[in-house]
Amino acid sequence: MNFVKAHGHEDPRIQALELQLALREYEIRLLKETADALTGELNLDRLLALVTDRARELIQAETVLIPILDESCQTYTYRAGSGKHSEEIIGETLPLEFGICGWVWRNHRAWWRGVLEDLAPEERNRWEHEAGTLIMVPLFGKKHFLGGIAGMNKRGGETFDQRDLDLLTMFGSQVSIAIENAVTFEALEAEKHRAEQYQEELHSLNQELVAVNADLEHMALYDSLTGLANRYLVQDRLQQAIFHAEREGESLAILVVDLDRFKDLNDTLGHNVGDQLLKEVGIRFQNKLRHADTIGRLGGDEYAVLLPRAGVETATLVVEHLLQALQFPVELESGSYVVSASIGIALYPEHGDDMQSLLRRADVAMYVAKRANQDWFLYDPQQDEHTPRHLALMADLHGALERGQMQLHYQPILDLASDRIIGVEALMRWQHPEQGAIAPDLFIPALEQSGLIRRFTAWLLDEAIRQCAAWQDMGLELGMAVNLSMYNLRDSQLPAQLAMLQKRWKPPVGGLMMEVTESAVMNDPHHVSDVLDTLTAWGIRFSIDDFGTGYSSLSHLKRLPVSELKIDKSFVKDMTRDRDDEAIVRSTIDLAHNMGLRVVAEGVESAEVLERLRELGCDAVQGYYIARPMPARDFLSFLEGSPWGVCRRKP
Ligand code: C2E
Ligand code: MG
Ligand code: MG
Repeated sequence: MNFVKAHGHEDPRIQALELQLALREYEIRLLKETADALTGELNLDRLLALVTDRARELIQAETVLIPILDESCQTYTYRAGSGKHSEEIIGETLPLEFGICGWVWRNHRAWWRGVLEDLAPEERNRWEHEAGTLIMVPLFGKKHFLGGIAGMNKRGGETFDQRDLDLLTMFGSQVSIAIENAVTFEALEAEKHRAEQYQEELHSLNQELVAVNADLEHMALYDSLTGLANRYLVQDRLQQAIFHAEREGESLAILVVDLDRFKDLNDTLGHNVGDQLLKEVGIRFQNKLRHADTIGRLGGDEYAVLLPRAGVETATLVVEHLLQALQFPVELESGSYVVSASIGIALYPEHGDDMQSLLRRADVAMYVAKRANQDWFLYDPQQDEHTPRHLALMADLHGALERGQMQLHYQPILDLASDRIIGVEALMRWQHPEQGAIAPDLFIPALEQSGLIRRFTAWLLDEAIRQCAAWQDMGLELGMAVNLSMYNLRDSQLPAQLAMLQKRWKPPVGGLMMEVTESAVMNDPHHVSDVLDTLTAWGIRFSIDDFGTGYSSLSHLKRLPVSELKIDKSFVKDMTRDRDDEAIVRSTIDLAHNMGLRVVAEGVESAEVLERLRELGCDAVQGYYIARPMPARDFLSFLEGSPWGVCRRKP
């Protein structure tokens, strides 16, 4: 025992007392030194290293270990150790229930040989043989269990005794606050580190956000395909330009530019080609404009051009430049494409003084240009279908069916081989109480846009199929042709509706002909072809209406189960006077026949045209020359008075 000062007293009792006293002094010094050393030490590892060294000396243990409760409170970890084998144990983590440490935690008391007497016999047996070699005191913080100080194997082969327990307990209570502080400090440091990390992450996230925001802003204002301003930015610029023009007493022009037949082109050649065209056209237009002008893409194949300080002369000059930009075909890898456009012009302040109405009016002008087959058109209120009068009319359309204002007129179709009326085409009529008869060209588009077309077509099919069956009951063999719009072909209920009507009215088999236009078919060829297949299987036939006015070619139609072509009246009406028209009619008839299709010519207004069509081999004709569309009640007297026969079933 090197720490005991030898006093050299003779009397052995005094010697023993002196020794005890020296030991006490030493212990007190050690405790005090420890307390001093620990003051202000917040580094847990350094602190624990110090504690284990001192504790080992204090209780003369071979090894001292310090298990510390982990943050989760489910496990403890040997955080520090000193002496034999300690290196192997440091860092090990064990469940809280486990081992002596678990016992100490559960019982809230120190472990040493003395506790054996308090244990149940079973537990005593379990621990007995190592009891004397182990000692462990709990470390309690201000609020909870922190862990403990454990001593193993008293030096010199002795066992830990009551005195060791007292010393270690005292030592433990002295160091526990310092350990708790250091543990808390360590947790705080970890927290701080985490917070700093969060801060860093937040910072980099923030930077990303700024970048994304910039992208979003660009996306919000510019068209991703062409890089031109989008509708929103065009509207905003127009608004600003109007404010400016208002203040300065200036004018401005807004143009809406729409590419012609772009949709067909897109459908036939694919979106990739369509997209490239839109980009190229955007670039060409931009090159024709001044710096102060804005060009944007409103969507689809529609562009807008804002011309500040422009009147009608400047606007028309720019329009000419834009049209010149399309003079040369667009060369793409897949081929070279001729593009044309229709342009509508609206001027501030003549045509409107707010952004919405100016844009809408430029749009109206563009439609007028398109319909009139003109390159451009300056807005004219006379042509505006969006006037209050027109809108009121459209509102009336909603109740037209319920009010019994809709009627079907039937126009006969004459077979040229037999000179007999073989069928009729059902055409919708709207008898408006104030405006009189309104032509379908005016209200069908409105029905389509408003979605009413389904309800109106359902009514039409019921009416027409019933009529067809009624004529059949009278012994007249007449086919019934009805017009379907693109929206009807997209209506998933159409086949079920037709099946129901056929069952209900039992029209003659093969008596129904559905007229669809090229554009309606080409709009969604795959879906339409499915619908056509289904209905064809039920004996319903299909005809391509207004043939020649669309963009697609016969080769596209070849794949569809179509049995007839109706040549548009615009080619037929004047064919005996217009050589081009006649050539178109002739070649259409030949091509159709080569494909096994029947040909009906519509718009036959004279005997001359009828005879010419007969010569060209046309199968059937329809037109004012034979008869105008008429209500069903007039049809029988028409048949009686007409020079043509009709197929009658033999009674
Ligand atoms: P469409 O299917 O091509 O119908 C033929 C149109 O040509 C009818 O016009 C008819 O009156 C007219 N027409 C007939 N013969 C002659 C003629 O010799 N000369 C001239 N100039 N025209 C003639 P309508 O009835 O005004 O119908 C116009 C279009 O409205 C129809 O063209 C059709 O596309 C559509 N339509 C009519 N009824 C319906 C319907 O119930 N549903 C749908 N979706 N569209 C319909
Ligand atoms: Mg038709
Ligand atoms: Mg037609």
